[in-house]
Amino acid sequence: MLKVILKDGSVISTNNDEGQKALRHTAAHIMAQAVKRLYPSVKLAIGPAIENGFYYDFDLGETLTFEALEKIEEEMKKIVKEDLRLDRMLVSREQALELMEGMGEDYKKELINDLPKDEELTFFKQGEFTDLCAGPHVASTSLVKAFKLLSVAGAYWRGNEKNKMLQRIYGTAFAKKSELDEYLNMLEEAKRRDHRKLGKELKLFTLMEEGPGFPFFLPKGVVLKNKLIEYWREIHQDNGYVEIETPIILNKELWETSGHWFHYKENMYTVNIDNEEFAIKPMNCPGGMLVYKSEAHSYKDLPIRAGELGRVHRHELSGALHGLMRVRAFTQDDAHIFMLPEQIKDEIKGVVRLIDEVYQSFGFKYGVELSTRPENFMGSDEDWELAEGALQGALEELGMEFKINEGDGSFYGPKIDFHLKDSIGRTWQCGTIQLDFQLPQRFNLEYIGSDGEKHRPIVIHRVIFGSLERFIGILIEHFEGKFPAWLAPIQVKVLPISEQYSSYAELVANELKDKDIRVSLDARVEKIGYKIRDARGERVPYIIIIGEKEQSSGSISLRSRTHGDEGSVMLEDFISRIKHEIDNKVLDI
Ligand SMILES: [Zn+2]
Ligand SMILES: [Zn+2]
Repeated sequence: MLKVILKDGSVISTNNDEGQKALRHTAAHIMAQAVKRLYPSVKLAIGPAIENGFYYDFDLGETLTFEALEKIEEEMKKIVKEDLRLDRMLVSREQALELMEGMGEDYKKELINDLPKDEELTFFKQGEFTDLCAGPHVASTSLVKAFKLLSVAGAYWRGNEKNKMLQRIYGTAFAKKSELDEYLNMLEEAKRRDHRKLGKELKLFTLMEEGPGFPFFLPKGVVLKNKLIEYWREIHQDNGYVEIETPIILNKELWETSGHWFHYKENMYTVNIDNEEFAIKPMNCPGGMLVYKSEAHSYKDLPIRAGELGRVHRHELSGALHGLMRVRAFTQDDAHIFMLPEQIKDEIKGVVRLIDEVYQSFGFKYGVELSTRPENFMGSDEDWELAEGALQGALEELGMEFKINEGDGSFYGPKIDFHLKDSIGRTWQCGTIQLDFQLPQRFNLEYIGSDGEKHRPIVIHRVIFGSLERFIGILIEHFEGKFPAWLAPIQVKVLPISEQYSSYAELVANELKDKDIRVSLDARVEKIGYKIRDARGERVPYIIIIGEKEQSSGSISLRSRTHGDEGSVMLEDFISRIKHEIDNKVLDI
């Protein structure tokens, strides 16, 4: 248990996220103290705890090297050993300004000046080091037992490129050494699996200066993408969905109706056509609403499940772009379900089951979170009670474990989020089921009820992959590029030992091709060892080697990614084996 001092000065013992945050924030102070001991003229900016760690921004006369980080880490260890108590001090704004003036902390002065005049401020002091801070902190520096400085990067003061560039040191801290080691191993593993590196090596996609945030998919990447789409279509057809396609460009009036023009405009690209303003869609919803409205509906038509693989564009800041994980153009595997109030629960159950099926087929475990009504909610209490009850009821009836995030829903409806856990333990938020009372109203959607009167349908927005591009990024890292046979861009490589066996090798390759297996023949005049290494580098599930013995006996020599050298195999046996693997989406991780 960690002893944590809260903003109001009270002390609690905790082991939860709050405790970890306090621990990491204290590590940031220890780092700042160490930097100040080593570089007395440094000016401090801000130093918060963040997901997985902490950082602190420093104004230093020099650029920090990796060696400098090691020295800072050494000094931090001393501070931990010194077992300094963290003392909280309450001061007035004037006292705070005076204190910071005396210490030459200009950035802190700027922060204080931005606070309301009557605000009471807190400082935390440990040994000779004092910092403006709201806390919380752990009670002593000695509690920060396991930490590591990870990197240093340039960061503008207040994120504004007009301001001075500061140096941001990132680090992480844990209560136990074993937890830190586990985390550092995971980081190493993540680096090895980085989808940008593997995407290039495996020739799946590329990013070019000409299209910042707009990825190019290469032939192999397109095979992978199309396989995902094929699978998506198949399961949606099985689950009673229809597929629609709505335009990429729609006029300003539509975006005013949907509200995006007022609340989302800075993220939208706009174009002018025939002197009228249009926007490139950042979401598929408005188009989906128009499709519903394009004809009259009776209660007997509902539910309508309309899927759309919609290409959306959003303006992301260039600094936020990251491989396929954060892009400016992506394909959402969207669907809108239009339904009667009494259908909510069953529809939610249907979507949850579908999401479960998809994630399991990739070997993902996942966590589920239900977000409920926020303070600024729209719609009636009655609607919300019905909706939240249906969402929670659906999850309970399916026997799903879930976490409730009170007050975290959108103002227009409660939602269920799915957090995937990949093969190295990282989580990714992908699937969402969002209930919406707002858009059906804005678009004045209707259906004729059994009473002959007009009623408003309820809408669910949902995605399973989220963004297809990002999902591919996650899959590359999850599988380390070793895609299961059904997804692998090349499923089999055929390698003749020498030119002599080329025609038999071609025969084998053609036989596989005829059976719709994605095969590539490597007939280059190279040593077989070299060709095998190449094929393994491409991470193909199967390698077939053809030499004298194979040619004379009409067999093949097989190497699989999972079992290595399997020796001589009859071609037809291999075909039925790989066919079974593909048809059943067998995972080999
Ligand atoms: Zn602090
Ligand atoms: Zn939507």
